[in-house]
Amino acid sequence: MVRELVVLGSASQAPTRTRNQNGYLLRWDEDGVLFDPGEGTQRQMLFAGVAMSAVTRICVTHFHGDHCLGLPGVLQRLSLDHVTRPIPLAFPASGEVYVDHLRRASSFYDRLDLRLQPVTVPSSGRELVTVEDLGRWTLRAAALRHSIETIGWRVEEHSGRTMLPDRLTEARISGPAVGRLLDEGAISVGGRRVTLEEMSVERPGQIVAFVMDTGWCDGALALADGADMLVCEATFASADAELAVAYGHLTAAEAGRLAAESGVRRLLLTHFSQRYRDVGPLVEEAKAMFSGEVVAATDLTRVAVPPRRTQ
Ligand SMILES: [Zn+2]
Repeated sequence: MVRELVVLGSASQAPTRTRNQNGYLLRWDEDGVLFDPGEGTQRQMLFAGVAMSAVTRICVTHFHGDHCLGLPGVLQRLSLDHVTRPIPLAFPASGEVYVDHLRRASSFYDRLDLRLQPVTVPSSGRELVTVEDLGRWTLRAAALRHSIETIGWRVEEHSGRTMLPDRLTEARISGPAVGRLLDEGAISVGGRRVTLEEMSVERPGQIVAFVMDTGWCDGALALADGADMLVCEATFASADAELAVAYGHLTAAEAGRLAAESGVRRLLLTHFSQRYRDVGPLVEEAKAMFSGEVVAATDLTRVAVPPRRTQ
């Protein structure tokens, strides 16, 4: 099973020669969650070697152009390619007017089964709102703090159990009995009651958090809490912290602090201002605050979700 983030774009506001506007495809088993498709997302997917049919749902953090102007192209292309499965589109409910504009931006034969998911979250605080429970994982959301309503996303796998083969052999449990033990939590073997807890250990679910345009806030902390991978905006260097405050953005050092306070494992910095030709110093700023792994997003690369925690 593949769990990785395909970086389609990593520039804030305006594209550069080396960075497209935002766009991120989270490949998560059979799902493909497309976050914030900026202009040019369709072509970036081609360059990145991912088919449009890999997209199974779309999440938009907010309706500034660098996070959503690729939506018309993506939706029209999904329709053109005869993608028949329903495509949920989750977005801040206050931006519904922009969704209406973007999905009808030009004339096309619309055969896409787009399912709108306008999301409402408390405007502040650490509450995570469940958007949809997909059986094996849950899509959750929390408010971020920006100049317009902005929502961050969290992909949260349900925890499960890993069976211990030695104990199963010892208890003489095999074949369909293992499935029954998983389903029922306990079974009787030769007159003895055997529980799932005895025969297995907890398998923690994996978590990916997506924190885009925001100032420091509780919502970002809630989203990032315990994440295996945090995709986080780092628009500015600390030297430009005044700009970060003025425009509702994080510095790279704040992104590092967010990862550190949240117990994150891998931090992927992105959404860089075009003023930085070299983002190496931003990575160093984040590293000074956070002892985990820090990676700077580079267009058309893939960043793996770290292997599952063992406990
Ligand atoms: Zn932005």
